[in-house]
Amino acid sequence: MTQCSAHTRGSTVFSRKFRFCGSLLYAYITAFVHGIATIMEQEVFKLKQQLVEREREISVLKDTLAQLQTSNISIELQEEVTALAPLKEKVMLSNEDVMRYSRQLVLPEFGVKGQLKLSQASVLVVGCGGLGCPLAQYLAAAGIGRLGLLDYDEVELSNLHRQVLHGEQTRGQPKALSAAQAIRRLNPAVECIPYHLRLSHENALQLIQQYPPYCSDNVPTRYLVNDACVLAGKPLVSASALRMEGQLTVYNYEGGPCYRCLYPVPPPPETVTNCSDGGVLGVVPGIMGCFQALEVLKIASGQASSCSQQLLTFDAQDVRFRSIRLRPRQAGCAVCGEKPTVTALKDYETFCGTSATDKCRRLCLLSKEQRISVQEYKEILGGGTPHLLLDVRPLVEVDICHLPFSLSIPLASLEDRKTEDVQLLKERIVETKQQLKSESCVPVYAICKTGNDSQKAVQILQQMAGSELEPISAKDVKGGLMAWAQKIDPSFPQY
Ligand SMILES: [Zn+2]
Repeated sequence: MTQCSAHTRGSTVFSRKFRFCGSLLYAYITAFVHGIATIMEQEVFKLKQQLVEREREISVLKDTLAQLQTSNISIELQEEVTALAPLKEKVMLSNEDVMRYSRQLVLPEFGVKGQLKLSQASVLVVGCGGLGCPLAQYLAAAGIGRLGLLDYDEVELSNLHRQVLHGEQTRGQPKALSAAQAIRRLNPAVECIPYHLRLSHENALQLIQQYPPYCSDNVPTRYLVNDACVLAGKPLVSASALRMEGQLTVYNYEGGPCYRCLYPVPPPPETVTNCSDGGVLGVVPGIMGCFQALEVLKIASGQASSCSQQLLTFDAQDVRFRSIRLRPRQAGCAVCGEKPTVTALKDYETFCGTSATDKCRRLCLLSKEQRISVQEYKEILGGGTPHLLLDVRPLVEVDICHLPFSLSIPLASLEDRKTEDVQLLKERIVETKQQLKSESCVPVYAICKTGNDSQKAVQILQQMAGSELEPISAKDVKGGLMAWAQKIDPSFPQY
């Protein structure tokens, strides 16, 4: 029993010892295996980390290479419309994209989806002026895929107060090229195509089919771009700015009206004022161009535009915005209606009775005999014949420069027959008649900045002659004071 029990006890001790050793060994093995597993896991983790790091480095190298390659390509000025290759598809953003666009990527309305859509969008900016500059600038900064920049003018000193992409160093260069260079400096990832050509009924459709266009300035260009957009099925984000006012609307979008639905007939040319004649405070087109960029970004990134069938007006004097509901798409519209009569583009300068340019709009209200050139006026001055030179520009322009012997009565005062101005004119005509010492009519020459308002003034003077005024012979000076500065007196300021 005892033995047995001793044995039993002994064997129990042994077996306990064995079990103890066994579990220790097991623990060792487990710990060993576990240790190996942990080491391997760590190794895998490390390798994965290194891989991610290398991938990031490769991506940075690729971006840098692409940027260098893009910035090394000299910007080629296009003088005709050519077919464009489709934009390279982008399925994900690079780390640099994420960093560059981070402030807009975090917007829930925009996000990565919006950014990728934007990188696939092509936009044509028609006119690289006061509206086109901020528009192109903000679209490029936001990461638009392709930017077509169209303008037929060169950079002039008088552009620089509002056309903020151009500078002293690009004076005399085509605006499209100057704008493209500035855009390249801002965001080399944007594909910039500068077009130095005049948009016409011959090239507009081919060009606009490749882009949705977003800006236009003068009346014939507005009709041309509108019709081309309707025919090509593209939206048109249109803005304008004059003096201290701006307007913005989106045409031909989401069932909304086109420009022709609202303005079926072009306005008479003499009722249209442009920035060159009417002036504009530089920041006004800047603000409107930014609003244009905003609507383009919304449309291009897949959000709804709030300006379809709405006209946004901006009064810079009172800093007041208004939104006016526009009439809907018209079934009888000549281009977007049910039975369109405009099915191809035509000559829009003839249709509108004015040229498609923003600076040298020339009215023709008088006959040849009712007009004299600056050279002829210089001869009259030299000959000493008594006459009256009537400067019909607004007083603010007379303050900039004037001929010292001229009488200043603004066109608006003549139109309103302002009593004191009519009285002053009467007196001066009588004085001149006395100097004439003959019974012939007093010659009155109306002059303005470029020779448009002076023609209107002559028409008014002719109505007044013989009744409200003594009989006079009224003529206007062709080309106005700017022609005087260019052809007769180079020291006379041009503005
Ligand atoms: Zn229409």
